[in-house]
Amino acid sequence: MSESGMNGAGIAVNESATGADEARKKKFRQDWEESGGGQLCVAFYVAFKKYKYYVETHSGEMERPSGPIKNKYEEHRVFEECLSTLESYKRKREETLRKNLEKAQSAARCEHEFLNGERCRAPRVKGKKLCRMHEGLEEAKAVKLDLGSMEDADSIQVGIRKLQAAIIDGKLDSKQIGHLAYTIQLAAWNVTRTTTALLEAD
Ligand SMILES: [Zn+2]
Repeated sequence: MSESGMNGAGIAVNESATGADEARKKKFRQDWEESGGGQLCVAFYVAFKKYKYYVETHSGEMERPSGPIKNKYEEHRVFEECLSTLESYKRKREETLRKNLEKAQSAARCEHEFLNGERCRAPRVKGKKLCRMHEGLEEAKAVKLDLGSMEDADSIQVGIRKLQAAIIDGKLDSKQIGHLAYTIQLAAWNVTRTTTALLEAD
């Protein structure tokens, strides 16, 4: 170990913020374990766990009326109290976890549907129906949807190229591709008809 790593200040300088934080926490813990209160508390905790395990594995002993233990001493009551406090802490923690999970799950989800039929699971932007990413794509899409005037063969060709680009970019869903392709088809058909009418009029 380098000399700077030997003292706390050296560690804080050499390591990332999280690393320094961890090192500081560890040092606090060590100091506490060495203090009078810490030693007693750790000893109590170890004994508590040992006794809890004993009770769990020797339950028959408690039930026997003639058995050596019948939960009648002060020690038993303190143990029971610790146990129920521990249980209620555990329940509260589980309850909080469950609530947080529910909250996350019930947060409104993006309504975008992928080509495979699955829905996007990202949370919606507040007041919108889509997530941040799909809101962005939706805005981009509005630009891509403008295929141009499509009033003659050349501008229809431009429209087709624009549609191709949008499809390649993956900015459109199959429904929109269908609509746009149909629009182009209509325009093409219209142009042919108009041209034919003009030719016939000549
Ligand atoms: Zn989305």
